[in-house]
This record gives sequence, structure tokens and C-alpha cells, in this order.
Amino acid sequence: MRDVSLWREPVPPDGLMGEPPARGRFGEYGGRYAPESLVEACREVDEAFREAWADPGFRGALARLLAVHAGRPTPLTPALRLSEELGVRLYLKREDLTHTGSHKINNVLGQALLATRMGRRRLIAETGAGQHGVATATAAALLGLEATVFMGERDIERQSLNVFRMRMLGAEVVPVTTGSRTLKDATSEAMRHWVGATGDSHYCIGSVVGPDPYPWMVRELQRVIGDEARAQCAAELRTGVPDHVVACVGGGSNAAGTFAGFAGTPARLVGVEAEGGAGAARGRLGVLHGCRSLFLQDGDGQITQAHSVAAGLDYPGVGPEHAHLRDLGRARYVTVTDDEAVRAAVRLARTEGIVPALESAHALAWVIRAAGDGDLPAGSTVLMTLSGRGDKDVSTLKELL
Ligand SMILES: *Cc1c(COP(=O)(O)O)cnc(C)c1O
Repeated sequence: MRDVSLWREPVPPDGLMGEPPARGRFGEYGGRYAPESLVEACREVDEAFREAWADPGFRGALARLLAVHAGRPTPLTPALRLSEELGVRLYLKREDLTHTGSHKINNVLGQALLATRMGRRRLIAETGAGQHGVATATAAALLGLEATVFMGERDIERQSLNVFRMRMLGAEVVPVTTGSRTLKDATSEAMRHWVGATGDSHYCIGSVVGPDPYPWMVRELQRVIGDEARAQCAAELRTGVPDHVVACVGGGSNAAGTFAGFAGTPARLVGVEAEGGAGAARGRLGVLHGCRSLFLQDGDGQITQAHSVAAGLDYPGVGPEHAHLRDLGRARYVTVTDDEAVRAAVRLARTEGIVPALESAHALAWVIRAAGDGDLPAGSTVLMTLSGRGDKDVSTLKELL
């Protein structure tokens, strides 16, 4: 039976996912919990981005980079054979077709252009599996900036190919040996490093997390996904707006960018998390990386390690705006298991000829499950963001299949 109590009528669009949040707050989430020197650096980024975002010259330069370098606009693909099997009408927003193979390029090109405008000559970034690091190294090379990427020692061992890619693109990769030696510690280390380098460096964060202004700045830079999809749906669908809008959620940037295009419509928004990284579905209020949000924690309030077959969903929390959308009932957050995601990836490959990233396969796994149990009524229209391509996951899949 479908649990209708989970659905509430969408709240009016006023201000939701539009204007920058007042004082960097999304309800009780967000903020700027950082050392004094970083508070000042964040204030400078905030001021520079507000100015840039209001400047048609900056917008135009970014739109051109997204077109000629990243390959935008990305298509909206009707998944015809899979739709037929599922009894719903599924449309895929194809971020897998961008240069470097995922939505991350939208954010890094925007932040790299901002860094140039601010007179910075270097980008600092954290990376887990290496996807954001590769995207940052790519943007830095394109705009003639230096790049320093912090990466946990364990991830460096597991992702040697991406480490090589970053170095080939001219980036410096700094191993992080503290804590669990993975993404959480790489982020802490990158922020610590920025404290001593704010004068000449911009910290390019990879998702809608971190201190204000990053959560809304990254959402705005990813909004291009939702804006394009909205216009494509208007042309493609009889109703103009899909019944459901679905995206996977790690920190939440591809979902936030997608949702932003539909926040003011009646579309129902669904964020899909990994069972082992369900910050929005199962996290508790806490503070990490300069931001108050929902995080996975143990009994003592220590942030715990996330686990997912999809490296991009391995963040132990979720961006503050998603926590707020959840509280408002405007978006709903669900989880799927590693196994469901892997099966969904194979199904998309065989019905549509598309091998998705395992992150994106989580969103699809929920669509498949929901179409089966009536959560998605027969005949409903579904827009799903396919955040990335599966090339990076073939060795993982090869071991599991
Ligand atoms: C990094 C990544 C994600 C997760 O990041 P969000 O900020 O939640 O979007 C999802 N899909 C792909 C392909 C990724 O590389």
C-alpha cells in the first residue's frame, strides 16, 4: 500500500530554492560555523558571488563555457523501453553526457570563473573517489589556475586512475593521513589548508555542503540542470510539468540543481540516498565542515562513516537545504540498497543502452521499486536526473556481477 501520509501538498514557491537564504539559514540548518579567518573568507566569496550572479557578463561567460567546453544543454531522453516495462513515462536528464561525465563540471566551471574574477590564482578542493578532484583539475587547467586537491590516503590507494588523471591535468594531489583517511578528513584538511591561503586561493567545494555561501552558491551553479529540464519538459510533456522529479543525493548538489527548476511547480520532489549514507532520511542534527545539518552519528554524537557501493554517495550527511525541504515536506527522501542500485544499473544498460554511474542508479532503483509497489501510479510522468556515466564504476560492477 502506498503511504500517502508521507505526501504533503507542495508549499507555495515563495522564496523556496530561489533567493539566497537570509543569514545563510535554511530553517534551522545552514550557517557559517568556521574559524574567524574562514568566516571572513566566506564573506568575501559570498559578496563576490552575489555580484557575479547579478552580472550578465559573468552569466554569459559561464553559459558559454558550459556550452563550448562542457557540452550543454544536455538532452532529455525518453526511456521508452524501460517506461513500457514499468508502466510509467520516464524521462532522463542526461548529465552523463557532459564533458568529464557528470554534473560536477557545472559547479567547478562556475567556481573557477568566480575565482578568476576574485583575482585568485589557485583552487583548493577535497575529493573522495576523485570525481570532484578531476572536475576541479579540469576547470583549473581550462582557466589557467593551479589546483591543489586533498584526498584521503585510503582513497588514493583505491582510486589510482583518478589520481593519475588529476596529475596529468596538472593538479597537485595531497594525501590526507588523518582520521579515516577518506572524504570527511580530506574536507577538513582542505578547509584547514585554506585558512593559511585565503589571499591567493579559492576553496572549491564539491556539493551543497559547507559554510554559507557554499550550499546556495553550488545550488545556483547546478540550477542549470533544473532550468534546462523544466524547459525541455514544457516542450515534451502534455502537462508541461512531470508528476515526479527524482535525483540521487550524496551531499545533494545534482538533486538541488534539479529541484530548483521545479520547486515552484506541483511536481513531487524525491531525493534518493544510499542505505548506508542516508543523511536526510536518517541523520540527526549536528555541525560538520562549517554547517549545521543532518549527519549520521553514533550515540556520543560522533559523525560516523558512510558506506555505499557508489563513492559519490559516501558523505555522512546532507546539505542544509535538503534538511529544510524535508522538514517542510516539500521534498521526500528515500533510500535504496547497494544491491538494488547495481540491479538498476544493469537494467538501464539492457533496456536503454546507457550504463549509469552507480550514484545515478540509486535514483533509478527507487523509480523501479516505486513503479512496482504503486508509489508511482501507472501512467505518471517521471523526470529523473542521470547524474553521471558508469565508466568509472565498471571495475566495481565487474567484481559484483
Ligand atoms: C559526486 C556524484 C554524486 C553525488 O553528489 P551530489 O552532490 O549529491 O550530487 C552523484 N552522482 C555522480 C555521478 C557523482 O559523481
